[in-house]
Amino acid sequence: MSNLERRPEETICSSSAELDTARTAEVLEPREVPLGGPRAMLVQRTLPHKDRRMIGAWCFVDHYGPHDVTSGPGMQVPPHPHTGLQTVSWLLEGEVLHRDSVGSVQLVRPGELNLMTSGRAISHSEESPAERSARLHGVQLWVALPGQHRHVDPWFSHHADLPVVEVGDATVRVVMGEYAGATSKAVTYTPLVAAEVAIAAEQDITLPLEVSFEHGVLALSDGLTVDGSSVSRGSMIVFDAGRAAVRIITSGPGQALLIGGTPFEEELVMWWNFVGRSHDEIVQARQDWEAGRGFGEVQGYAGDRLAAPPMPGTRLRPRPRTRLT
Ligand code: MN
Repeated sequence: MSNLERRPEETICSSSAELDTARTAEVLEPREVPLGGPRAMLVQRTLPHKDRRMIGAWCFVDHYGPHDVTSGPGMQVPPHPHTGLQTVSWLLEGEVLHRDSVGSVQLVRPGELNLMTSGRAISHSEESPAERSARLHGVQLWVALPGQHRHVDPWFSHHADLPVVEVGDATVRVVMGEYAGATSKAVTYTPLVAAEVAIAAEQDITLPLEVSFEHGVLALSDGLTVDGSSVSRGSMIVFDAGRAAVRIITSGPGQALLIGGTPFEEELVMWWNFVGRSHDEIVQARQDWEAGRGFGEVQGYAGDRLAAPPMPGTRLRPRPRTRLT
């Protein structure tokens, strides 16, 4: 599907008080990376990006599929560790089975949230179950935990009763935080939002935004024009804080994930699956994982756990939350 013919015509009405077009917006194109081990599936990663590290506390955004998983292993991510973050697993099609070191075994389906809070240390695996739908399509995002909460005990929650609100001609499911008066029960540690937005074909909608938040709109379908920019599936358009609304035009039926949050002021050191604050802390986490120390055990996964990659030859440095350079 292409909406190229629309692109030249789409301009924002700059006289609109609601749409502050003076604020910059940038489209982050994803890079394709293998997920997990040797049987890896390719995913499209928009955060971290060379032009942008974070949106609020959101520090990692992967989109995958739709993949045909009728044959082959589907998703297979062997047991691996995390520190300092929450993982947010959200599906549009298919199923993923989560297992973790605090004893959780939880299938997640479209419309449901699997939320894992690593706190100081957790390990988990993710796999396509043996009995599964033909197609797999979803996202996984990470939320950085703030300093005062990043060493909490690891825990897991599943949410199948997320609120749904109609916003004009859009149907919005609130995954995390609050949107349009509806609040998810998922626990957050900084002010943030995640909401799935479904829009019928050939609609022109305006979504209100929390002005104190930075925002991203991750396209989950093709044919979206967001504030005048064509955003293809797996790409994300980013808005700095200060915006009151975003306009989305669809060609076919459209879906997007809106994420946002207050700018995250702490500098992070992110490496592999660890979110820390210093090189030495990451080295320690890696050594602990390799020694089988502190991250618990994932029961029931048919396969070996992931080995940590070697550390780079240079010291990891904290990075600012926006530009990498
Ligand atoms: Mn993980």
